[in-house]
Amino acid sequence: MQVVETDLGEYILQLAHEPPSHIVAPAVHKSKEQVADLFVAAHGKPRLTDIPAMTREAREALREHFLTADMGVSGSNFVIAETGTTLTVTNEGNADMVTTLPRIHCVITGVEKVIGTLEDFATLIRLLPRSAIGQTIANYLTLTTGVKMPGDVDGPEQMHIVLVDAGRTKLVGSDLQEMLRCIRCGACMNHCPVYQNVGGHAYGWVYPGPMGSILTPVYVGLENAGDLPNAATFCGECAVACPVKIPLPDLMRKLREQQFDRKLRPWAERMAIAAWGFAVTRPGLYALLSGAGARIAKWMGGRDGLIHSLPGIDGWTKGRDMPAPEGKTFRELYRRRRDSAADGAR
Ligand code: SF4
Repeated sequence: MQVVETDLGEYILQLAHEPPSHIVAPAVHKSKEQVADLFVAAHGKPRLTDIPAMTREAREALREHFLTADMGVSGSNFVIAETGTTLTVTNEGNADMVTTLPRIHCVITGVEKVIGTLEDFATLIRLLPRSAIGQTIANYLTLTTGVKMPGDVDGPEQMHIVLVDAGRTKLVGSDLQEMLRCIRCGACMNHCPVYQNVGGHAYGWVYPGPMGSILTPVYVGLENAGDLPNAATFCGECAVACPVKIPLPDLMRKLREQQFDRKLRPWAERMAIAAWGFAVTRPGLYALLSGAGARIAKWMGGRDGLIHSLPGIDGWTKGRDMPAPEGKTFRELYRRRRDSAADGAR
């Protein structure tokens, strides 16, 4: 069997033998020149770097597959229960080709994509393209309801819908149930400062960004993806951007609690958190220790104000320098600012 991706970004990544780095813009990490090299190797044609011409070349290569494929496999953004309709949102029209040209159409989608009515669909489809790429509506909404009928000029002879569970139903009734509302728009990763700095591949599985930091541990096991719920600053941007109001930082915090309870984090980290928990419940001790820590960190920054190495916790400084703090704790800075504001008011 030859399997060919038909979304342009996914097609580029298939040629590169890479997984996607973003759920809406899978090849966002590739430059035009890198894509040109891949097309030369795959299509054996002269190297093009003009984007419309490159797109035309990919379209010609894919057209051949659309016309000769035995089976079209699509996903589905929503499955509408009252009509048995599947919906696929694209900006390239490839879902129209995949669902109508081959003899067999197979839809594979997560069980949580089933929604009740066309009215639900009308609401959700207003949210999805707006949150995904800022469009009021996507270029193509492909709705399929069954096979080709007598008199139809096109459409498949067979249609199969595969609803994938793979751990989804175990979320029902759990602390993480709200994650089932996710419509895969990608807004949370677009706003996440961590995603913006590390890119999608760093998340190690198909779902990157804040939504992946919750979904991946659920699907592959918290013991296999323990770093993901910790790869967050908890700035809260993702929860603000999410169109279906999933409290992503809260869910990540719940996963951290589960990790702590199941003793899945390294021993030294658990000890450090326990020590920190002891100190923060004793304000005098906390002020003393945090004041000493801030001054030591300032001293470690030296003349250039950068910490080049942190003995014992060097994960950060192995790849980059850490800016040294000012040498004062937040409470000291706050008090100083408050006092100077009071002096100014007098
Ligand atoms: S968690 Fe929210 S913002 Fe992120 S992909 Fe899902 S619906 Fe979109």
